Amino acid sequence: MFLPPAWQLLSTSRKVTSVALLSLPYIFLYASAARDPGYIGLENHSQAMSLYPYDFTIFHPGQTCNTCKILKPARSKHCSICKRCISKLDHHCIFINNCVGYNNQNYFLLLLWTTGVLTSYATYLGFSILSDEVRKEIPSWTIRGKGFTWSQFANIWAWVLQEYTRIGAVTLLCLLTTPLIFGLLGYHIYLIWVGTTTNESMKWSDWQLEMTDGYAFKRSLAPHRQKDESVEPAWTRWPVESQQVVLRTGDGQPPRGPGAIGTGDWERVWKLADVENLYDLGFWDNLADVFLPVNAFRDREEVSPQASRSHSSSASETDALVQQ
Ligand SMILES: [Zn+2]
Ligand SMILES: [Zn+2]
Repeated sequence: MFLPPAWQLLSTSRKVTSVALLSLPYIFLYASAARDPGYIGLENHSQAMSLYPYDFTIFHPGQTCNTCKILKPARSKHCSICKRCISKLDHHCIFINNCVGYNNQNYFLLLLWTTGVLTSYATYLGFSILSDEVRKEIPSWTIRGKGFTWSQFANIWAWVLQEYTRIGAVTLLCLLTTPLIFGLLGYHIYLIWVGTTTNESMKWSDWQLEMTDGYAFKRSLAPHRQKDESVEPAWTRWPVESQQVVLRTGDGQPPRGPGAIGTGDWERVWKLADVENLYDLGFWDNLADVFLPVNAFRDREEVSPQASRSHSSSASETDALVQQ
């Protein structure tokens, strides 16, 4: 940071704002790096299983992690760097040297947000300080260079950036990194918007290819079907359950044999819009799942399990109709 050389040039309010904005990313960096991202072991396996139901599309029950030798809960993934299975794994982030998962995705998003705000403010502050320094030499100068030609404007900035190298270099660095940070934050907000994770978005891309090739089929799943509780949780805190099963076949023919789950005829699926994403409850509920994961949806179930379930299923039926 350019704060040490610039400290003398700052007003009290700018000093307070700078220190406050500077401390927040460190707090969230520590929180997201130090917190257990959602490691799954034998001791918490049933709790991890109860977070999300299988969607029978990108997460099917009965799959075991080859390393951890446990059933993979829906939305979990094994991280080869952490050498553990992690609930709702988004990705392994090298900047925090930790996975971003169910337990720390909130801190990771706050880290991105506060870092973006910090670099934006630092950019503004840097140019503002440098502009004040120019004004000492050229009293008519303003930060936008009003009344100066483009070449004068460029020359004056070039001069002041060289004259105050430390402040100038960090200001330019902040200017260049701010769009990258907000780009990454925007991508994660988009993922929340569509109810998915970085890991799942890759699975959806794979499905898109299968669908385009005509190898994907779906049929309905009875709402009150008998669950095989040796591979599937009897209850999850998620308010909706999958009403479809989506499978791919190697020969482009509908799945055959008595082992395939679901009822009715298989229907070929050509595009992702024809398949329901079970993990998308709408932006605000998806956001609540990120920031209030422990409490989200539990109240609904406790108030009226039956009513909430029928409401949820009718809502998802409407969604499915809208998508079609
Ligand atoms: Zn594992
Ligand atoms: Zn990891």
